[in-house]
Amino acid sequence: MKKFSEMPLKAELVEAIHRVGFTELTEVQERAIPVVLSGKDAIVRAKTGTGKTAAFIVPIMQNTPQSNAVNAIIIVPTRELALQVAQFSEQLGRYTHIRTTTVYGGASINVQISNLRRGVSIVVGTPGRIIDLIDRGILRLDNVRFVVLDEADRMLDMGFIEDIDYILTKTPMKKQMLLFSATMPQPIITIAKRHMEPDYATIQVGAEEELVVNTISHEYTFAKGRMKFAALLAYIGQYAPKKCIIFARTKYESEIIYDLLIRQGLNAMLLHGGLTQAKREYSLDTFRKGAQFMVATNIAARGLDIADVTDIINFDAPETAHDYVHRVGRSARMGKEGRAFTIFGLDERRLMEDIQYDANIRMSELRLDLDKYNNFQMPETRRHSFGYGEQGSGRFRPHMRSEGRYGHSENRSGGARYHGGRYGHNRYRGQR
Ligand code: UDP
Ligand code: MG
Repeated sequence: MKKFSEMPLKAELVEAIHRVGFTELTEVQERAIPVVLSGKDAIVRAKTGTGKTAAFIVPIMQNTPQSNAVNAIIIVPTRELALQVAQFSEQLGRYTHIRTTTVYGGASINVQISNLRRGVSIVVGTPGRIIDLIDRGILRLDNVRFVVLDEADRMLDMGFIEDIDYILTKTPMKKQMLLFSATMPQPIITIAKRHMEPDYATIQVGAEEELVVNTISHEYTFAKGRMKFAALLAYIGQYAPKKCIIFARTKYESEIIYDLLIRQGLNAMLLHGGLTQAKREYSLDTFRKGAQFMVATNIAARGLDIADVTDIINFDAPETAHDYVHRVGRSARMGKEGRAFTIFGLDERRLMEDIQYDANIRMSELRLDLDKYNNFQMPETRRHSFGYGEQGSGRFRPHMRSEGRYGHSENRSGGARYHGGRYGHNRYRGQR
């Protein structure tokens, strides 16, 4: 493997990388950094947890002068990911004297405005707040040379594409577009091409049909209503996961699961888009520092790099194979092992088969001792209002306030989600 010291990088940048603790390049870095340095647009696909962040931050830093104009804008789908990417950029910038700032919703815009006014070279942010700051005339992108879409397929899908198009109209014609993700469905590549020079590079690390790292095992069970909770508790009881993210479909359901775990005396955190930003950051922070569980919606599915997550539990199956790939990719990072367990509804056999087919993985059925774990009480406050425990009804009231930009997968009510056609309403119909 190549070392950063062998790359055509400024001495102070190599020093900065060493101080962060990296010496050798990962495969995606080895392949992407030279291409980014060459000035080409690029679509880079590499599996979760393989070091994509450094693959764009490092070459951008190499070509960022110490000036007050914004040279690079890095756009990501969630606030927590913005913070994480910015943190890495800031770490390097401390030694290269290149300033990074982060802009995202839910936090004081005035603080962000004064950070921007101080003059920064690299901006990491989420689309809504970026647009707000552009429209206020505070964030000027006239001198931008690099635009990065991290989790690019997410940034170009229906939830975000209009925002991205708008932001791009504020950047110069001549710039470098850099798209990174673990998944790049063909329809999204078609959209991406509209924004790229015809000679753009495609970097594909690993075989195209391999989306998931092979250090994750995949298991499932079928259950509905109250038995889903029994399955969850049985898994926890039988396997004692060390550090575990539990994904739920809605904010609302994540709260129920969270309440249940707390009642069981478990050390759990909660992360969903209906919480204040301060709470979101506290939850993630505490989970990073060692809480055993984090119950989350899909906002935690993309990009977050949390050390040593051993288990991913999909309390509800994700809607698409791509969602599955990203959720389970929060574990087994940088060659570590991970275990994924998905609870499918009784009517979701087809979804299970589709996920296996589309993500190119094999799942095995897990036998859990449900009877032993079925003597729990649902949290009082929700029990009556939401109908748990009544003949295993798995229905949730679709009353959740829409949370806008990445809310659609959080707010869909149970059952309406997967219609059973081979790909259901999946936009990536027929893609592998
Ligand atoms: N990392 C590393 N060596 C490197 C670059 C990154 O060990 O040269 C670590 C990094 O600190 C992080 C992990 O690899 O903990 C995953 O990186 P990233 O989040 O960039 O992965 P992605 O999912 O974006 O590919
Ligand atoms: Mg990433």
